[in-house]
Amino acid sequence: MQNNLKYFIYTFGCQMNKSDSERAAALLEKIGYIPASSEQEADLIIANMCSVRQSAVDRVLGFGKIFPGLKAKNPNLKIALTGCVLMEDFKKSDKLFDYVLPIKNLAQWLELLKEEKASQPIDRENADCSYLKMEPKYANKFSVLIPISNGCNNFCTYCAVPYTRGGLVCRDCKDILEEIEKAVKNGAKEIWLLGQNVNDYNCGRVSFAKLLEMINDLPGNFWIRFTSPHPKNFSDEMIAAIARCQKVTPYLSLPIQSGDNEMLKRMNRPYTVDGYKTLVQKIKKAFYSQRQGLEREVALTTDIIVGYPKETKNQFEETAKLMDNVKYDMAYIAQYSPRPGTVSARTPDNVSKVEKEQRWQHLTEILKRTALAKNKIFVDQVVEVLIDEQRETLILGKSRHFKTVKIKISKETAEKNFVGKFIKAKITKALPWGLEGTLVEYEDN
Ligand code: SF4
Repeated sequence: MQNNLKYFIYTFGCQMNKSDSERAAALLEKIGYIPASSEQEADLIIANMCSVRQSAVDRVLGFGKIFPGLKAKNPNLKIALTGCVLMEDFKKSDKLFDYVLPIKNLAQWLELLKEEKASQPIDRENADCSYLKMEPKYANKFSVLIPISNGCNNFCTYCAVPYTRGGLVCRDCKDILEEIEKAVKNGAKEIWLLGQNVNDYNCGRVSFAKLLEMINDLPGNFWIRFTSPHPKNFSDEMIAAIARCQKVTPYLSLPIQSGDNEMLKRMNRPYTVDGYKTLVQKIKKAFYSQRQGLEREVALTTDIIVGYPKETKNQFEETAKLMDNVKYDMAYIAQYSPRPGTVSARTPDNVSKVEKEQRWQHLTEILKRTALAKNKIFVDQVVEVLIDEQRETLILGKSRHFKTVKIKISKETAEKNFVGKFIKAKITKALPWGLEGTLVEYEDN
């Protein structure tokens, strides 16, 4: 089907949103749309957005400023809003959009897009992941995003996800395995399993640990990564599986959010700081006993919120202490912003912007120190890297520990295409946010 109309998708937010955009792109192409190289030449713009942080909402509203100008140039232009949307964020700007299309209703978009204007409620009713059956158009064929579930039942007090995506629904494990097998046959080297809370995955008798084992047993040379687990349901079965499955990379994102027990309680995060530290030790021990060489060192990242309502200086100091103690390889540190409709939004956002910024700076300094120390472990070692970028005589990629590795190559070598390939690099330098190395081995084209 060819309609000569062009589409452009803005994606804001996490890998789940990126993955949803891949399915939306596939649907649009199925009904005859072709990709536009920029929003300027589009007949349909999809803003696939994320209400999880105020900064993401501000970005969408910032882009929205150009929509009237684009419509003046192309009166047939239609603009649709989808994704993890809290409609309260768009109360004053809903006129920017011709369509509001819940992503979980992707199969109905075809009908809705025939209308001049259409809007369906984006709320937590009828949580669904049947839209994941639709084949995606992967933006990246060697690093593939595979959703395993949608939604979340946890209701952390600051988070909009349970309201935007609804409760947890899990994808059939057969569908997941089929999609992975096909992607690997088509050249995928890295599989990202996505879910708001992967360790709550459950499909009949298949737990997340079991799913990992089934994926690990699929033929092919590929890596398995997943995001994100919750510290609360991280079972011993899961610890054993991640350490035993050799395709699972020694890299784990384990969100702590705060290093203070009282704050964790107020955030509705049902674990304690000591419980978290014990879990980290168990995971480290499991990798140490099941793996060899550098694989024994598991790289650990986390998510932290600073300036949550009523977070005192002492409570913040507990988080700083925890960071010093755990020694993260990386951390995503967010300055708290209230999301409409969430529980925490009912409490005044009483930590000033200046204070939040200072707390953020303080944690970033700790992170810089621990990340550098962790990266030094790799100096003089040979690591495997999946190359995702090639610029003249420079290739860049991620190691199994999810470290960015920069490698200078000769002009002659640069004639080969390295993107999407595994190479081996000897690490020559450690930096806080990555590694530098030299090329020692690669597959020939
Ligand atoms: S676990 Fe908490 S932070 Fe993560 S998606 Fe669910 S409610 Fe949000």
